[in-house]
Amino acid sequence: APAATLVVIDRPELGSPSSGPDDVGFRLVDPEQPTVHVTDLGVTRGDGIFEGLGVVDGAVQALEAHLRRLARSAAMLDLPELDLDVFRAACLASAAAHEPAPFLLQKLVVTRGVEGGDGTPTAWVRTAVMDDPAPERREGIAVVSLDRGYRHDVAETSPWLLQGAKTLSYAVNRSVLREAARRGADDVLFVSSDGYTLEGPSASLIARFGDRYTTPRTDLGILAGTTQAAAFEVLEARGIPVSYELLTLDRVREADALWLVSSGRQIAPISSLDGAAWTVDGVETERLADALIGRRE
Ligand code: PLP
Repeated sequence: APAATLVVIDRPELGSPSSGPDDVGFRLVDPEQPTVHVTDLGVTRGDGIFEGLGVVDGAVQALEAHLRRLARSAAMLDLPELDLDVFRAACLASAAAHEPAPFLLQKLVVTRGVEGGDGTPTAWVRTAVMDDPAPERREGIAVVSLDRGYRHDVAETSPWLLQGAKTLSYAVNRSVLREAARRGADDVLFVSSDGYTLEGPSASLIARFGDRYTTPRTDLGILAGTTQAAAFEVLEARGIPVSYELLTLDRVREADALWLVSSGRQIAPISSLDGAAWTVDGVETERLADALIGRRE
C-alpha cells in the first residue's frame, strides 16, 4: 500500500503565536518516525478526541462538519479552544501529500498533551488508504443490538460521562464488535438502558419507514453523524421526508430498510438484526452510495 502521510500540528490552540511567516502551525513528518510521547495523556488515559474523515479522489469530505464536531468534542472535554483554521489546513495538506487513490481515510487526533506538561494538546492528522467497503455494501451486514448501559437522556442528566463526544476512549466501541462476532454478527446497534435505539459503535443508523427516512435524535448522547446529515441532505433534495426521532428498538424492528452510515464505510445496508433477516434495498443503497461517495466537499 502507498505510504501514509502524517501531519503533526504544533499550534493546535486558538491564539497561539506564530513564530514567523514559515510557521503555519503544522508540519509534514515521516510517518515511520515516532511522534507521540509515552506519557501522552491520549496514550495513558485515552484522554482526547478524534475525527475520521473520508477522502475521495483527493477531496476531504464534510471537512467543515468534522471540524465543527471536533470543536464540540473539545468543549465537552474542557480542552483548550482549537484553531480550526490550522486544523483545516493540516487536513488538506495531509490529503494533498498522499499519493492519489480512490479512497483514503484520514484520522485527526487531539489529546490533552503530556503528563505534567503545559497543557498544550498533542494533535496530528494521518491519511492512509482504506479497504474498499463495496463488498459489505452489496451483501449487507449482520447487526446485533447491545445494551449501552446509559439512559437515553444521559447527555442531559450527566454531561461528565461525555456521551456524544467523540473521545479516544473507544475500547468499549471495539469490545462490542468482539461480542458481535461471538454472536455471529458483523456490527452493533447500541440501545439505551431504557430501550431506545442509539447508534453503532462507529456509525449512525438510518431507518426507512415507507417513504420516510429517520435517524435517532442526536441529543441522546450519540454523535451527530456527518454522513447521516449528508444522506438526509440528498434525500431532502429529492423531496423525500426525513426526521429525527426517539425510536424504541421495537419500532426499529418495524422498519422497511436499515443502514449504518459513516465517513469510512459511507453506507452499509443491514441484512439481519438480532438474527432476523432484513430486506436489503439494493437500488436505494446504490443510489445513496453514489451520492455519498460523489461528495467532493
Ligand atoms: N457514531 C459513532 C459512535 C462514530 O464513531 C461515528 C464515526 O466514526 C459515527 C457515529 C458516524 O459519524 P460520521 O458519519 O461523521 O463518520
